[in-house]
Amino acid sequence: MSLLAVGSIAFDAVRTPFGERARMLGGSAVHFALAASFFTEVSVVGPVGDDFGDAEYDVLTTRGVRTDDIEHVDGGKTFFWRGHYDYDLNVAHTDDTQLNVFGDFEPKLSDHSRGSESVFLANIQPDLQLGVRQQCNAASLVGLDSMNLWIDTARESLRRAIGAVDLVLMNDAELRMLTEQPNLVRAARDVMAMGPRMVVAKQGEYGAALFTEESFFALPGYPLEEVVDPTGAGDSFAGGFLGYLDAIGPEAVDDQALRRAMTYGSVMASFNVERFGTERVQSLTHGEVNRRFEEFKVITHLEAVPLELRVFG
Ligand code: AMP
Repeated sequence: MSLLAVGSIAFDAVRTPFGERARMLGGSAVHFALAASFFTEVSVVGPVGDDFGDAEYDVLTTRGVRTDDIEHVDGGKTFFWRGHYDYDLNVAHTDDTQLNVFGDFEPKLSDHSRGSESVFLANIQPDLQLGVRQQCNAASLVGLDSMNLWIDTARESLRRAIGAVDLVLMNDAELRMLTEQPNLVRAARDVMAMGPRMVVAKQGEYGAALFTEESFFALPGYPLEEVVDPTGAGDSFAGGFLGYLDAIGPEAVDDQALRRAMTYGSVMASFNVERFGTERVQSLTHGEVNRRFEEFKVITHLEAVPLELRVFG
């Protein structure tokens, strides 16, 4: 099986209470692809500028990520994001966003990428997400993430993109904002009414909740003592989740598999936040992933609870 990701490929400047980095490799597609590469073959599509060099490509190719659909724009500059976190690490404060080469990007997929069975439309302008979705006719599992910027500035485009996917993974606050619905269960139902059959509400250090038409499943975050930089945690979660589901194939996806996918998502997110940017995932081994998954397993064996049972009286 193979998994395609479109999203930002970026340089990030990040400050947290534990330190800062002036310029490091980041971007939603990069964090996603590195996490997913532990499970399946991943390709990344997106533009980069002249400032994106061998060192950056190497981070991806060392993990086996296919970079053929990364488009080098001559004379361009790579997407740049600057943000900071205060002591509530669940809230990212954006200080600067420079779209640069993403300003005139038109996704062009190779035949290989167009044939991907699974696709992740990571956080980027929603018309671009839809453009990629429409080129992937072979895909049986398509997930999408987004953020407050696009809810504010491109809500209708975002609703169209959501209407074309199977799965939405978003922060719980952004799901409420998108649907203008303070209750998370209703917000998830409203998103499913737009088309998707599954919704994952990411809740930062508190974990994540999965809603399908028939069931609900929630998982706490892995209890880490040291969180250094939460940037990319959501994308790493999505990488673990979709990477695992792509690896097992669509016929094998049942409730049990979805709980495992949630667990792999939490495992990959928990590693990502232990160091700045991609630093921790670059040195991560399969053994470490498996050990943390085993620690989580006892929780994933809980049965999913049908939503009707949660309504009393
Ligand atoms: P998250 O998983 O939500 O922490 O995503 C972090 C990544 O999102 C960072 O590496 C940023 O480069 C990227 N990012 C921030 N703002 C945007 C944006 N408006 N569009 C696309 N990517 C973004």
